[in-house]
Amino acid sequence: MDSEGHPETGRDWVPALWRGWAGRCPACGGRTLFTAYLKMAPACTACGTALEHYRADDAPAYFVIFIVGHVVIPLVLLVEKLYEPALWVHGLLWLPLSTGLSLWLLPRVKGAVIGVLWALRVRSRPLV
Ligand SMILES: [Zn+2]
Repeated sequence: MDSEGHPETGRDWVPALWRGWAGRCPACGGRTLFTAYLKMAPACTACGTALEHYRADDAPAYFVIFIVGHVVIPLVLLVEKLYEPALWVHGLLWLPLSTGLSLWLLPRVKGAVIGVLWALRVRSRPLV
């Protein structure tokens, strides 16, 4: 048994990633990962897994920027090539899309990162 009471067997990172994406505990799948939009629960209330040791830090923001950029920029170029709209039309289209997509993705990507960190046992050291 490890310090969290789980067997020392391997943890499959793929289901852990998808459980985290869905806002679920990577260990048991209970809907306990977040207590607010991006606020992590210190521990899973269903299985007791300590979640506070798994810190995503800035990784979710980097991944979200990467994903949103790869979705929005090709659309911007395509719309510009096809319709050549005024600059304010680009602003009306892409600012809300970029913002909305980022806000939708951020908790999902953070959960996925936490899930992978849990599966790989990448725990942060406690701050002294
Ligand atoms: Zn759990």
